[in-house]
Amino acid sequence: MTIRDHDFPPVQPHQYAKEWKRYTNSFVLLIGLFVGYLPFGVIADYLIDRLLGGNNTVMMIAAFTWMAAYGVAGLRFGSFRCPRCHEQFFCRKRFTFFGFYNPFARHCWNCGLEKWAGE
Ligand SMILES: [Zn+2]
Repeated sequence: MTIRDHDFPPVQPHQYAKEWKRYTNSFVLLIGLFVGYLPFGVIADYLIDRLLGGNNTVMMIAAFTWMAAYGVAGLRFGSFRCPRCHEQFFCRKRFTFFGFYNPFARHCWNCGLEKWAGE
């Protein structure tokens, strides 16, 4: 059985503002880490070359740390919980394998709450 919109009281303005702000922050962090990887790599490479004489180990550690941060940010964004039903917003409750996950969903896959409702 799927929980739908009519199972919940009407959404009030600003009811879920805090949760949508947290969603926005995790999205901005994810995109920032994705877009910032190349400039970070160039600057880090330049600085490590200047300061440490081109130590590849330090550069590899810096790159992997950045990638790990991107992975964590991706997991945080992807596992965003619906502010109303508290299930995963982008993923069906019962079927969580590939194909039932949509990070571009415009509504909760479990209760039907529209994205940005109650902002
Ligand atoms: Zn929901």
